[in-house]
Amino acid sequence: TKSRLQNSVVSYFEMGSDEIIQRELNILNQLQFGIQNEEFTVHLQPKINLNTDEIEGFEALARWYSPVLGHVSPAEFIPSAEKSGKINEVDILILRKVLKFQNVRLSRGLKMVPIAVNISPVHFYSETFVKDFLSLVEEYEITPDLIKIEVTESVELFDFRKAKEILLELNELGYESSIDDFGVGFSSLSYLQQLPFSEIKIDRSFINSINNSDMHAVVQTIVQLAEKLRMHVVAEGIETPEQYSILQQIGCKSGQGYYFHKPMPLEEAENLLDSI
Ligand code: C2E
Ligand code: MG
Ligand code: MG
Ligand code: MG
Repeated sequence: TKSRLQNSVVSYFEMGSDEIIQRELNILNQLQFGIQNEEFTVHLQPKINLNTDEIEGFEALARWYSPVLGHVSPAEFIPSAEKSGKINEVDILILRKVLKFQNVRLSRGLKMVPIAVNISPVHFYSETFVKDFLSLVEEYEITPDLIKIEVTESVELFDFRKAKEILLELNELGYESSIDDFGVGFSSLSYLQQLPFSEIKIDRSFINSINNSDMHAVVQTIVQLAEKLRMHVVAEGIETPEQYSILQQIGCKSGQGYYFHKPMPLEEAENLLDSI
């Protein structure tokens, strides 16, 4: 255990259930401290136009390095933050860093692309989200073309009326939202058609097995559906040239994945953006 902690990388799959429980407790214990002590940073992953290979935006992904716990992945700390009521703070912290990044680039007259932040459904449906979001974009003077919202659809939390109300309020001011991890958690297609999301992000698990003919058909159907609903569509987790070319053939307009770029620190993303 000691050497694992020193390596700062602990895989769930390597741990027994006692260790998992202990790790979860440690994460819960350190979360508030980590938030207060600025242990969280942002990485950015480019979103690529599959027709031109150009960078059309970035997705912001939270990273946590705790001197006590080492690197903690979002797969570990996001669920903990959701359970312990700390998720709003984590999301807002990341949002603030992204807005500041955009604000500085704007004031320097540098090339700008939109950045999408992930908002937990727990946070999205909470009373404070819209108010907090709007006051922050105003504080940093960031217009709707430069900031996007990604919400993972969650069956347990799904509230059609509330979702529609929030999305309409944001849309009215020009702010656009995406459904993240599409295909995994969404209960009904008829809801999709009635909710004013502007973008669908197809979950990585579908792209991962797109060379399978059934999965190929499923992804193609999602892309066609999105087109009918006039929604933009993004493939997540493109890792191979084969997946890339299948998606191009299907007519999927955008994608993200290790095949193009892994998520990278802000400075690296800046250099990339400034080099094109
Ligand atoms: P997501 O929003 O669906 O983000 C995509 C995840 O897939 C990221 O994992 C990204 O690093 C990973 N990824 C991108 N391309 C590839 C690829 O080609 N192959 C593979 N295997 N993975 C790829 P990450 O950064 O570990 O984040 C996991 C999830 O945690 C995110 O899924 C998102 O739901 C959540 N998350 C991350 N940051 C935040 C945040 O600030 N707030 C909230 N509420 N959730 C966040
Ligand atoms: Mg996302
Ligand atoms: Mg997600
Ligand atoms: Mg996703």
